Amino acid sequence: MSHDYDELKHRLAKVHDLRTAAELLFWDQTVMMPSRGAAVRAEQLATLERLAHERFVDDEIGRLLDELRPFEESELFDSDEASLVRVTRRDWEKARQVPSELSAEMTKAASEAMEAWVVARRDSSYAAFQPWLERTLELKRRYIDCFDYEGDPYDVVLDDFEPGMKTDEVRAVFERLKEELVLLIAEAASDEVSPVAGGRFPEEVQHRLSTELVERFGFRPEYYRLDRTVHPFCASSATTDIRLTTRYSERDLTSLFTAMHECGHGLYEHGVSPSLERTPLCAGASSALHESQSRLWENIVGRSLPFWRWYYPRVQEAFPEALGGVDLERFHRSVNRVRPSHIRVDADEATYGMHIILRFELEQELLAGTLSLNDLPEAWNARFKEYLGIDVPEDRLGVLQDVHWSGGSFGYFPTYQLGNVISVQIWEKAQEALPGLGGQIERGEFGALLGWLQEHIYRHGRKFTPQELLERVVGGPIDPEPYLRYLKSKYGTAVAA
Ligand code: ZN
Repeated sequence: MSHDYDELKHRLAKVHDLRTAAELLFWDQTVMMPSRGAAVRAEQLATLERLAHERFVDDEIGRLLDELRPFEESELFDSDEASLVRVTRRDWEKARQVPSELSAEMTKAASEAMEAWVVARRDSSYAAFQPWLERTLELKRRYIDCFDYEGDPYDVVLDDFEPGMKTDEVRAVFERLKEELVLLIAEAASDEVSPVAGGRFPEEVQHRLSTELVERFGFRPEYYRLDRTVHPFCASSATTDIRLTTRYSERDLTSLFTAMHECGHGLYEHGVSPSLERTPLCAGASSALHESQSRLWENIVGRSLPFWRWYYPRVQEAFPEALGGVDLERFHRSVNRVRPSHIRVDADEATYGMHIILRFELEQELLAGTLSLNDLPEAWNARFKEYLGIDVPEDRLGVLQDVHWSGGSFGYFPTYQLGNVISVQIWEKAQEALPGLGGQIERGEFGALLGWLQEHIYRHGRKFTPQELLERVVGGPIDPEPYLRYLKSKYGTAVAA
C-alpha cells in the first residue's frame, strides 16, 4: 500500500473526526442542550467547522491527491482506495473555492438562526425570523459567488446535496409529477374521518412501539438511540453510533411513521462498510438516495397492507380504547388517506410532492432575487392555495414550518421528492430479486429486504455518485414513471398517458 495513500487516509480521518464531533454537538443542541447554551454552541460549531475546513483544503492534501493519480488508476474503479481518492479530489476542489472564514461564518449563522427559528415558529412570527433569514440568504449568495458556475446559480446549492444533478433535470422530473399529482389529488382526496381522530395515545406507549419497529427493521440496541426533538432527524458519529430522533403527539400516531422514516436513514448510515469508517466515504451517496431509504421503510413498507396485517394487532392491543373497534382495513385506509394539509412532514404520499415543488420554486426565486423576503409569506400562501387548495392561517403552518432555511440549506428540499421517486425505482428491483417479500413483511420479517439494500446500496457509502449508484442498482437514471405508477395503483386512480 502506498505511503501517500496512508498519509491521505490519516489526514482525512482527522477531518472526519472534527466533522462527526460537530454533528454530535448539533445532535446535543437539538436534543439535550438548555436553550441558553445556544450562543456558545454556535461558536463551538464554528470553530470545529473552521478547523475541519482548514485541514481539508490544505495544500498538502492537494499534493497527495496529485501523487496518487497513478495509484488511483492502477486500482479497480469499485475499490475503496480508488473511490476514496476520486471522491476526495472532487470534494477538495469544491471546498477550495470557499474561504474557511466564510465556511465558519455560515456555520455560526446557521446555529444562531436555528435558535431564532425555534422561537419564531413557536410564536408564529415571521417578522422575528426575517432578519436571520436575510443574513442566511446573503451568506448563501456569497457562497454561490465563490464558484465559477455556468447557467443556473441554483445548480451550485443543489450540488451540495445531490452531486452532479442540475436544476433543469429536477425541473423536468417535477413538471411531469406536477401534471399528474394535481389530477391524482383531485381524484383521491378523501373526507373520511380518521379512526385515530379523538383518541388518546400515551407518549410512553408510542415510544415503546417506535423502539420495537426500529429494532424489528434491523437495529440492535447497542448501535442506536431514539430521542425526542422538535424537528426529527438522524445523525451519526460512526456506523456503530446512530442517533435517531422523533417527536410524539398524544393525539395521533404519526410518530410510528417518523420512527420508520428516521430508522431508514439510520439503517443506511449503519450499513456503510466498516472499511470506510472515519473516511469521507462514510455517509450516504446523496440526500435523495438517503431519502429514498427513509421513504422506502416509512411509506412503501410502512404504509402497505402486508405490513399492517402484521403490525396492526399489536398497535390495537397497545391502544384498546381508541382502536378496539377499528378494523384493519379502515386503519390501513386511514394511514393512506389523501387530504391536503399544511405540514409537509405529515403530508400523505400524494400531496407531499406539491409541498416540495412549492419550496423548490420559491428557493430559486429567492436566490435569483426575483422574490423579496418581505413578500415571502404572501408568495408562500398564494402558491399553497393554488397547489393544494387550502388557505394558510398562520406562518407557523406555512413559511416557518421547516428548519432548513434557518440552516442555510437551500437546495435540500427537492431531494426529498427525488428520494420518493428513487425509492420506488429501487423497490421494484428489490421485489424482482426477492419474490417472497410481501409474505415476509406480513410476518414481520425484514431481514431479506435489509440484506438486499445493504448489499446493493448501504455498504457502498459515498463511493459512487448518485448517478453511478442508481445506474448500478436500477440500470438507468432517475425516472418519475415507476413512482407515478405506484401512486396510481395505490390510490386506484386512472392512469393518464
Ligand atoms: Zn428524511
